[in-house]
Amino acid sequence: MDEFSLIKKYFHNQENQSFAKEKGIILGIGDDAAVFESSPDHYIVSSMDTLIAGVHFPEDCLPEDVAYKALAVNLSDLAAMGASPHSFTLSLSLPEVNELWLEGFSKTLFALANFYKCVLIGGDTCRGKLSITIQINGTVSKPCFLSRAAMKEDDYLCVTGYLGLAALGLFSWRNNLHDNTEALQRFYGPPLKLEFAQALWSLGVRSAIDISDGLLSELKHLCVASQVSVCVDSDALLVHKELSALPLEQQKQFMLSGGDDYELCFSVNAAKLEAVKDLARTMAIPLSVFGRVQKQSELLICDMQGKPLATHTGYLHF
Ligand code: ADP
Ligand code: MG
Repeated sequence: MDEFSLIKKYFHNQENQSFAKEKGIILGIGDDAAVFESSPDHYIVSSMDTLIAGVHFPEDCLPEDVAYKALAVNLSDLAAMGASPHSFTLSLSLPEVNELWLEGFSKTLFALANFYKCVLIGGDTCRGKLSITIQINGTVSKPCFLSRAAMKEDDYLCVTGYLGLAALGLFSWRNNLHDNTEALQRFYGPPLKLEFAQALWSLGVRSAIDISDGLLSELKHLCVASQVSVCVDSDALLVHKELSALPLEQQKQFMLSGGDDYELCFSVNAAKLEAVKDLARTMAIPLSVFGRVQKQSELLICDMQGKPLATHTGYLHF
């Protein structure tokens, strides 16, 4: 059973969900973050991510890198909702009290948190295998949150940045290759695009997701949530110079199915595409326009020739 079937089977409790409306829950399980009422003019956006040593990062990873990644992957979920960071809680499971480690970890954690004025409001600390869980809160002005469920037929598909770099970084680390320097850095340092994401709503963008488990598998989430299909032109994706040296098949594998990119994938109406491109240019954000949204048919994701693309290739936790 994969993680998604597991959540559906055991954690979609009907009675529990029946209280959602009276509690002002606008969006619950199934998106990058939940959205609920907080004030007359704002929603709160809330998400959580866990990093476990040996699963999400190497056991001997520097504390600074762990801290950055732990908070950045949560900020990335806020970006996918178009939200602004507000506050977070931190649950730490530590094998021992290592003050040198804690110093490096907390220094980087607060450098990033303070940059976004995201306030630590609580947490939990215990002994165990090294693992970090962060629950993050953001805000959006009503009704301006992005969701997975708002792609429309004929929208253009866009993605920020260079895909596959983090997968190449992980590959390089596993194989002791140290010449792919940007790729190695990218594995630990997801590129945050919060300001860009927050500006997208006013340009007509309604649907977005961040890429944690590979482009194709995230596209599948968008398609299922929005009840549409997409056709994808993988040749239209920007190729980073460190990936361009790879054999084509491996390059495509990293770009389409590699995890940990934390770039932003979204769809935009044809009339607003140029405005989005202008914004990306102004903010110096690389942007690929790589496909089109179609009416739903049996087929969810295909290439430009209509050939189905395998979507089970992304990272699965089980
Ligand atoms: P992301 O990749 O954006 O972090 P996930 O794939 O981890 O999202 O999770 C998919 C959806 O399932 C999210 O909406 C998340 O909040 C929800 N979810 C994950 N685990 C659980 C759980 N144990 N109970 C309830 N909801 C969960
Ligand atoms: Mg996400």
